[in-house]
Amino acid sequence: MRVIINRNLCGHPPFACEQCFGEFLRTGAYADRSCMLDVIDDGKPEVTAVITSGSFTRELVITDDIREEVIYDGYMKFADFPLEAFEIQPPHGQDIRRIEREYEQAKHKSS
Ligand SMILES: [Zn+2]
Repeated sequence: MRVIINRNLCGHPPFACEQCFGEFLRTGAYADRSCMLDVIDDGKPEVTAVITSGSFTRELVITDDIREEVIYDGYMKFADFPLEAFEIQPPHGQDIRRIEREYEQAKHKSS
C-alpha cells in the first residue's frame, strides 16, 4: 500500500503529521483535513509512505523493523529530509486545491 502524504496540505508542525500517520498505521483511520492525500493499493503487504514536505519528497518503506518506532516517534527521523523541508507555511484554500489538482493530473498520466 502506498500512502501519499503532502505536508504542504496541512501546514502542521511535523509531530502533528507524524501522529496522524502513526494513528493510520495503528488503526487504518485518518483524519479528514490532514496531509494524507491518497492511499493506493499497490498489492504489497508493507506500507510505503511517499512524503512531500516543502519542495522535497522522500519515500519510506515501513518495514516491520521500524514500524513501532514510526508509530511512536514519527517518520521524520527515518525520512532523511534536509532542514529546509521543515519550513512549510500554513496553506491557503487555493494552495490546497492546486496541490490536489496537480496530484490528480499526475496520477492520471501515470496510470
Ligand atoms: Zn499533516
